Amino acid sequence: MGDPMFQLDTELAQQIFDYCRERLSENPVPLDLGSMANDTTVIPITSEGHAPQTILQHFREHMAPAVISIDSPGFLAFIPNAPTKNSLLFDMVVACSGLNGTSWLESQGVVVAENQALEFIAERAGMPQGSGGAFVSGGSIGNLSGLTVGRDVGVARRPGLERHQARFAISADAHSSVGRALHVLGIGALLVEPDDHRFTLENLTAALAADPHPETVIGVVATCGTTNAGIIDDLEGLGSYCRDHDMWFHVDGAYGGAAIFSESYRDTVSGIRHADSFIVDPHKWLFAPLDCAALVYRHPALARAVHTQEAGYLDILHDSSPSGDVDWNPSDFAIHLSRRARGLPFWFSLMTHGVERYEHAVEAAIDLATRAAERIEALDHVELVRDPSLSIVLYRRPGWTNEDYTEWSHQLLRDQVAFVTPTKWEGETIARLAFLHPDTSDELVEQILASMR
Ligand SMILES: *Cc1c(COP(=O)(O)O)cnc(C)c1O
Repeated sequence: MGDPMFQLDTELAQQIFDYCRERLSENPVPLDLGSMANDTTVIPITSEGHAPQTILQHFREHMAPAVISIDSPGFLAFIPNAPTKNSLLFDMVVACSGLNGTSWLESQGVVVAENQALEFIAERAGMPQGSGGAFVSGGSIGNLSGLTVGRDVGVARRPGLERHQARFAISADAHSSVGRALHVLGIGALLVEPDDHRFTLENLTAALAADPHPETVIGVVATCGTTNAGIIDDLEGLGSYCRDHDMWFHVDGAYGGAAIFSESYRDTVSGIRHADSFIVDPHKWLFAPLDCAALVYRHPALARAVHTQEAGYLDILHDSSPSGDVDWNPSDFAIHLSRRARGLPFWFSLMTHGVERYEHAVEAAIDLATRAAERIEALDHVELVRDPSLSIVLYRRPGWTNEDYTEWSHQLLRDQVAFVTPTKWEGETIARLAFLHPDTSDELVEQILASMR
């Protein structure tokens, strides 16, 4: 018998599987309406509960349309997400498997698979053998976790430097989560003004020379693909400087780190190999579902010394594993303990599709951006703000106000053509296309551009 909450309702199971199958079969995935659906009444929570069919139906009719599906090829705002069907299928396996991806003791099988994916990323990034880390929930927690290790290592190596005095050199174009991470860590920034939005070695040395306390700068945060414009900092220059000056080098590649899969950008991003810590989000441009960021350290032992959580009841996790192997607890490498085995959907997708398809899909988004830019240059009513970098295109519609861009963006969504949002560039409101899904078509781009006449 058992508790009724833990019985499988086979009829409901069938309905849920049907729902998932239906959703998985949508190709292309529709945009849906987001808050424009405007009909999200809720059913009250009761003591005796509702028939599951009632709630499933309510979800289907009122809640599911009130999202903008981030995996639609028409989603070109912010940074989209384009999970492969294989990754989504395997996410369901993860959901049903009772995995806790915290420790070697509990989930060695999972850790081995996740580490295979992490090692592959590290190798592609040119980081040395022995690099490793964990999958975390996103780039924000990845940045925070990596910079925590950088701070502690930097302070430990500089006798006399107080923890709160330590600073990282960061570019004015760094992602907002980097500033937030420093805030949480209680340390400051040497804020560097980049050259045309690209943080270079010259910018760094000039900023250090002008600073009254350069000795407090313990590391550098570089971006591989800024979120707004896809710009890749001078990874080679900054990275080798850090290496020579015993500074921590953190590379935020949450979005653009995926360029390690791109033939055309391979050389541009080769400086990632200097990283002490590197992040890339498979939930952005490596075609895995939310939430999944890879965090890789050059010297995982340093991270372990900083992040391992000590508690009497956790000691057994840190003693060597029953098989006598080196234990690898993902929990030891970031600010987390219990964790979903969130690297597995990415691992399964990479294993089954193979590297070539990944390379092809990453390149497809870069090509889309290149062709969109060519099209913009050929048209009279729009103009390119700068050459595209990675898969992001910035352009303007001369004569338009902020309100014009906003109204246009809403109209495109109401018409279910695309989700495109304006951005700010050097104080000006402009249009921005962030490509990611390889099935986004040139025709769709054409339609978007035509809608701005
Ligand atoms: C998206 C992004 C982040 C934050 O990643 P989340 O997964 O959203 O937490 C950090 N840095 C860059 C460059 C990004 O594009």
